[in-house]
Amino acid sequence: MGKKMSERMNLKHCEREQEVVDALTSGRWATAWGEDIRRHAEVCTACAEVAFVTQEFRREADAELLQAALPSAGLVWWKAQRAARRAAEERAAEPIRFVERATFALVALALLGLAAWNWNFIAGWIRHAGELAILPSLGFTPAILLVATVAVFLSVMALAAYVGWRED
Ligand SMILES: [Zn+2]
Repeated sequence: MGKKMSERMNLKHCEREQEVVDALTSGRWATAWGEDIRRHAEVCTACAEVAFVTQEFRREADAELLQAALPSAGLVWWKAQRAARRAAEERAAEPIRFVERATFALVALALLGLAAWNWNFIAGWIRHAGELAILPSLGFTPAILLVATVAVFLSVMALAAYVGWRED
């Protein structure tokens, strides 16, 4: 930027350029005491250029000062805040995850309970299916149907458990 700045400043010169810089760096620029030089810079391209460059320069200097000060105080504070926020978010998500797992476990238990409660019905259905003429002729016996039913049930449960746990 330094080179560009000098190139621009070399285009045109004005004897009041230093006055512009002084007014800006002292803070007089924005006050009533800076009104005269401010008005001049509005009509003088050289001083307008100097005013612009000086302000840019000061802004950069401010930014550098800010960056230098940040690691010691601001940045550490900001990082601590972010870490605290993340921890809070994780703590907030934990009960939800627990409730989800508990709900899943309850549903699984309910299904198992339902299966046990209706076991006579299920066993009766399996026996009934086994008694059907077509099934034994295909090689199905009540024992095989029972094993198949249990296997399918366990597979569904395992799949549901996998899906439920994978979401973490
Ligand atoms: Zn001027």
